[in-house]
Amino acid sequence: MDWRLTDKQTFWLKRILRMGFAIGVSVVLTQFSFHFLESLTYDLRVQFQPKSPTSGQVETVAIDTDTITELDRAPTIKDHNTFLEELLKLNPRFVVYLIDPQEIEGSPEERQAFAETAERFNSLYYAANMLPAKGREEEMRLPAPLNSIPVYAGPRTSDQNIFAKDNVTRRFIFSYEGVPTLHPIIASTYNKLELAEDYQGLFPFLETLQGYIDFRPPGTYKAHSFINIANGKIPAGEFEGKVVFIGKDTTDNSVDYIRTPYSKDILSMTTLEMHANIMDTLIENSAPIPTPPWHNMLITAIISIITLYVVLTVRPGQGLLILISTVVLFTLISYIAFSQFDIWIAMAHPLLAIFIFYYFFIPYRLIMENRRSWEYYQRNRLLTQVEELKSNFLRMMSHDLKTPLARIQGMADVVLSERQTLTEKQTQALENINRSSEELAQFIASILNLGRIESKDIKLQLKSKDINTLLTDVIYQLDFHARKKDITIISEFEPLFSVKVDEDLLRQVFSNLIENAIKYSPEGSKVLVSTEEINGRVVIQVADQGIGVPEIEVNNIFTKFYRSAEAKNSGIKGSGLGLYLAKYFVELHNGSIQVESQIHQGSTFTVEIPMDLDGSHPQPHQLKELKHV
Ligand code: ADP
Repeated sequence: MDWRLTDKQTFWLKRILRMGFAIGVSVVLTQFSFHFLESLTYDLRVQFQPKSPTSGQVETVAIDTDTITELDRAPTIKDHNTFLEELLKLNPRFVVYLIDPQEIEGSPEERQAFAETAERFNSLYYAANMLPAKGREEEMRLPAPLNSIPVYAGPRTSDQNIFAKDNVTRRFIFSYEGVPTLHPIIASTYNKLELAEDYQGLFPFLETLQGYIDFRPPGTYKAHSFINIANGKIPAGEFEGKVVFIGKDTTDNSVDYIRTPYSKDILSMTTLEMHANIMDTLIENSAPIPTPPWHNMLITAIISIITLYVVLTVRPGQGLLILISTVVLFTLISYIAFSQFDIWIAMAHPLLAIFIFYYFFIPYRLIMENRRSWEYYQRNRLLTQVEELKSNFLRMMSHDLKTPLARIQGMADVVLSERQTLTEKQTQALENINRSSEELAQFIASILNLGRIESKDIKLQLKSKDINTLLTDVIYQLDFHARKKDITIISEFEPLFSVKVDEDLLRQVFSNLIENAIKYSPEGSKVLVSTEEINGRVVIQVADQGIGVPEIEVNNIFTKFYRSAEAKNSGIKGSGLGLYLAKYFVELHNGSIQVESQIHQGSTFTVEIPMDLDGSHPQPHQLKELKHV
């Protein structure tokens, strides 16, 4: 049985492994809490969400700097008594003292009077900043004569040793060991919710049930000045049926203030306003709802898979764009869920997942790509070396063949010069030797030229020359070949100025074109060689009525060693180098060579050479840039 995988299977296996890896990392990642980052994204959402409406049922009264200035001291228990008497007229539903009545200065009689006034309220409580254990509520009781004032737990929390550990208040305590704190007790009067299950966003933590405060920006609950009420300056009806919190705002004690998601400033908000916020969070039942852990794990896994895919497969620029869009979209969804539906989607893990995958896998990808390009480089170098070896070999061989070949030709000529002593067969054989030697000599010349081109060893030897004369010469030399095939070469030359060209190279170019025209044409046909001058360029055309080149091959015939299928099949000999060299030589003259051809109809090769080549011809070091095939 063959256990090797097909390409398609490897492709999918790779993808599945990657996906599994991304999920695995997400699962591990979500086992750790990143409270600080989580709180940061939470705070940003709190800050940028539209302000939640207030219930209008919560009022605050502060012993503020105005009060201290006017009284010239902190209010005594006697001042509080006066204050309560005025407050009584305003008929609030609940009055909650955040100040410990025991700590207010005054004589026992005045304290007694205060306690009696307090008793005249329906519900006047003292909210202690503590959480008594079940059954130990007694410890919170106020001593006589204040013992008629009920005390409830109204603790403030801050992330000191747990969660974000940044001292910011984000949570409230709903109940401890099943006993509700002050806020839910009061809230139920307004929202008629009795059970903890009726409230959204509550979560158990140790022995408590807690929730996150739906904060309104600081200053939303503007505190009334204690002194104004004591002086009876508050309009009637202002507190009617409401909850009134009484606290301090004198900036002399940090206990009276909290840090909030809006600001980590130590005086970000008064404790008084915090209680108002907790109250409204409960009355309006608008505590943010944290999503369950499996939800967080799922989102983290999806985002991890996307990031890993992008980092390993997509082009870097595009990948970055996809990742940025993913982050933006995820942030937008989290923001809308929070501000519109009170749903708090955890953002820390998904964002960290993107960060981790990006920073660990980009270097990995770079290493892989580097290795791949190194391999390409090595392979390319090897190919270049092989190519060089091949050329060197051909050059050396051709060079070494030249001398013995010349000798063979010479010897054949010597024997042929004594024709009369030879039989006809012998003469034919010798002529055959001569022809083949000539072909071989031409091939060797081409190979040597190729070598010169590849080693960039060609320098133009420019001399003034009349192209027409050059062509006449070439035609004369090839006339013998033409005549053998009964081909007529017609020349149509326009008188031309002399042009500075490399005579040797151009002779090779024209020889090759006319020789090809003869080679690839049927017997008795015509070859037309024409010249003219157009816009400062000499235009030479060689047209034949030969076998032509099929359209799909036209672009290839100037390539090294290329021969059309038709040429190969017809048994006509050739090396496939002539046109390659011709194109190269013409381009050395800043010229161009083109062909128009129709199969079985004929071909026309057009060479154009600029007349003012002088000084503008490319120098050897420029040869590289020439676009030869
Ligand atoms: P070769 O030695 O094969 O003639 P060339 O480089 O001169 O090499 O030409 C390349 C190929 O272009 C030839 O093999 C032939 O297929 C095609 N070709 C060149 N000239 C002509 C022509 N006048 N008519 C038809 N085909 C031609």
